[in-house]
Amino acid sequence: MTTHNKKIYLSPPHMSGNEMSYIQDAFDTNWIAPLGPHVDAFEQELASHVGSNAAAAVSSGTAAIHLALRLIGVKEGDSVFCSSLTFVASANPIVYCGARPVFIDSEPETWNMSPRALEMALQDAALEGKLPKAVIVVNLYGQSAKMDEIMSLCESYDVPIIEDAAESLGSMYKGRASGTFGKYGVYSFNGNKIISTSGGGMLVSDDIAGLKQARFLATQARDQAAHYQHSQLGFNYRMSNVLAGIGRAQLEVLEERVNARRAVFNRYDEALSHMPGIQFMPELANTRSNRWLTVLTIEEKEAGVTAREVLEALTELNIEARPVWKPLHLQPIFEGARYYPYGNNESVSERLFQTGICLPSGSQLMEDEQQRVITCIKKTIMQKMPFKVII
Ligand SMILES: *Cc1c(COP(=O)(O)O)cnc(C)c1O
Repeated sequence: MTTHNKKIYLSPPHMSGNEMSYIQDAFDTNWIAPLGPHVDAFEQELASHVGSNAAAAVSSGTAAIHLALRLIGVKEGDSVFCSSLTFVASANPIVYCGARPVFIDSEPETWNMSPRALEMALQDAALEGKLPKAVIVVNLYGQSAKMDEIMSLCESYDVPIIEDAAESLGSMYKGRASGTFGKYGVYSFNGNKIISTSGGGMLVSDDIAGLKQARFLATQARDQAAHYQHSQLGFNYRMSNVLAGIGRAQLEVLEERVNARRAVFNRYDEALSHMPGIQFMPELANTRSNRWLTVLTIEEKEAGVTAREVLEALTELNIEARPVWKPLHLQPIFEGARYYPYGNNESVSERLFQTGICLPSGSQLMEDEQQRVITCIKKTIMQKMPFKVII
């Protein structure tokens, strides 16, 4: 089979090879259970890597968000604010708690939560006498949200922040690791993330007692007793010792993975940014994105094609590309939820959903594969141009 039509994936896992020695160790010592020495070590190594006091390894990023909401005490009837432009897993745990999500639009500079829309929502909530129990801020595709502005707003209303950094492990905001700004931070090691344990997540915080409670809740909330006694509702959310071993080896190469993804971004940027109607996801000053995914927008008026047409052309060539996340306020499952747009008549997340495309961005993407993606995008745009130009 020739390689010119081999499937190019959006963001496949990239193992380093060293994972096997950790897995072998788990097998040799028969630590196949959830918990074990790799779990403890992975927690410590990740906490020290991001500069957080403590970390709790769990079965998924979604579980970590759920635990954070439980620790904050989110209950039935509460409301929780959440970025609208994100994967559904950011908001589902709000519903697990019986609470109501309120969605906040993005702003154009980071594509993340708009401080202005957040302020409007907080003002309304204060007037109604019902502030949210928490604000879930997402760092989309590796780019940090405007944390300074968001934190100062949340501080003035005394509302805790959960930072959904599932996509931004390895990113920096003003010299500090993304994911360490909220009361709780969440990372994911799902198969498509920048490093992977095949499935898993991590909750980080400076609140050591809180994380101790998280580990307790994540192991069925078993009281100190030889008989199985439970006085609180728990979950089976811990990470297995085998998977934590994979995580330890993956963490060793995190910086290499960030550099590789940034190099992928730079090649797309160089090849395509001069094309009419194409813009890449920006990088906020004083931040360093891990560029988990390279994302660009296509303005039909200038490019002559829609993002959907380019997506179809890529799919035809066996190239996996995706639209930007469908905003959660547009999802059928959240119909009727409140939404605060960026401006009176301006919804940034909706525009990004219409015009955005995520391109193959794996850290193992070969240059000739990437060239196939670039050529396809260029050709699709050139075919639709009203006059011939040399690109
Ligand atoms: C992947 C992801 C999650 C969920 O993580 P899992 O480990 O798959 O449960 C949450 N939020 C965002 C923004 C994500 O991309």
